[in-house]
Parts: sequence; structure tokens; C-alpha cells
Amino acid sequence: MIQAGLGHYAIVIPALLLVLLAIAEAIWPRRALVLGRNPRWRTHALFFLSNAIMGRFLSFLVVVGVAANWANAHHFGALNLAALPFWVEAAIAFVILDFAVWFQHFLMHRHPLLWRIHAVHHSDRDLDVSTALRFHPFELIVSTFYKSAIVALLGVPLMVALAFELWLNANALFNHSNIRLPRKLDRILRLFLVTPDMHLVHHSTLVDEQKHNFGFALTVWDRVFGTYRTESILGTDNQKIGLAEIDDARPSGFIWSMKQPVT
Ligand SMILES: [Zn+2]
Repeated sequence: MIQAGLGHYAIVIPALLLVLLAIAEAIWPRRALVLGRNPRWRTHALFFLSNAIMGRFLSFLVVVGVAANWANAHHFGALNLAALPFWVEAAIAFVILDFAVWFQHFLMHRHPLLWRIHAVHHSDRDLDVSTALRFHPFELIVSTFYKSAIVALLGVPLMVALAFELWLNANALFNHSNIRLPRKLDRILRLFLVTPDMHLVHHSTLVDEQKHNFGFALTVWDRVFGTYRTESILGTDNQKIGLAEIDDARPSGFIWSMKQPVT
């Protein structure tokens, strides 16, 4: 089964990447962590577990899989209107899905209710590869249904939808990591891809800076819609991470973080 095989890759590849990035963070750290690795890492591991359990019930594989199979069986979706070569279809789907994720992130920062959920991700006082796991299960529910709708409307083939999810997770792990890239490499990379220094701006304690650099993978949307910012006004080395109103160690606790949207 190709789908089952891809399902395994979707776990093994990000897991390997997480280990590699964690090692790179130890060798080339971008900045010293305010609260350190523990208990943040334990909390983020628990976030991962909660989302994995939630995923069992609501799984991307099931919900998006159903959407992709349904669209395919009914020849539904924009991509099924024209007989395009597979790789063209896949490339179009990747770009549109990437935009859809950018737009969802933009909305998360705009709508008060969505922000309550997404603020859990932003309350981390540090930024490292483990922050990429710190998404409240409510956010997983919202994004799973949102992505399923896009997949159905576009008629994205299941394999492409799964490959996109893998691509998205790999990028999130990379751009949340606390690694210092050579300046030149960072400048070249961010012509296309969101780099750790670029995403750092989005995690600033300054609200205005949180409303920039929404991209998860491609940088083009922030450039096109005028939300691109090179670095914090305080400078990359001096900017603070997290939410201005939460400047203690509470976000490193699991229970507190889980309750954050309803407090
Ligand atoms: Zn955000």
C-alpha cells in the first residue's frame, strides 16, 4: 500500500529531522534559551502525544484521505476540470495548499477566538525545534477540517496531500529550530523558504511583529501581501520571544498550556 508507506514516512522523516535539528541546536545555537529545555521539552512531547491521540480519532490520514478519495471518485475539484500531467497537478496543489496554510495562519492572528487557540503556540518563551510540536489540539481540529475542505475543493490526489503534509511538517521543524545559519545562506534560502531567523520575528513579544512572517514554508505570500519583515526592530539578537503579558515560567507547564485557551 503506497498510502500506508507514505503514512510511515510521514512519521519517520519528521522524527529523524527533529533529532538532527536538536543536535544542530546543541552545536550551533542561535540564542541562549530563557527557560531552557526542561520542562519545555517534556511539555511539548505531551503536546505531541495529545495531538497524536487526537489524530487517531480525527486523523489527517482519515479526514483528508476521505476528502481526497471522495473528490477523486466524483471527479470533483478544480484540478479535475482539466487533464493535466500528474506533476503539474502536484505542483499547483502544493502552491495553493501552501497559500491556504498561510491564509489560515493570517486568520488565526485576526479572529479573537482563533487567536485564543493559536496563542498557546506563541506563549512559548523560547523558540526551538520542540516549539514546532506545541500546537493545541483545538488548532489541530481547525486545521485538519480546513485542509480537508481545500483538498476536496481542489481535488488534490491523496498522495500529493500526504506529501504536502510531510513537506509542511519538515519546514515547521526547520524554521522553529534554534540554529544559527550563516548569514549568506539565510539570505539565499529566504528568497524561497522561511528560515529560523525569519520565523523568529513572528514569535516576537511585540504584537505588530507577530502580524508579520505568517509563512510556514514559502516566503512568497508574505512578500506579495506586504507582511514580510526581515528582522525585529530590536534586532535578531535582542528581540524577545513569547507573549508580552506572560513573562514567567507558566508556559513551560503542560496543564497550564492546555488550559490557556479557556483562561
Ligand atoms: Zn502565529
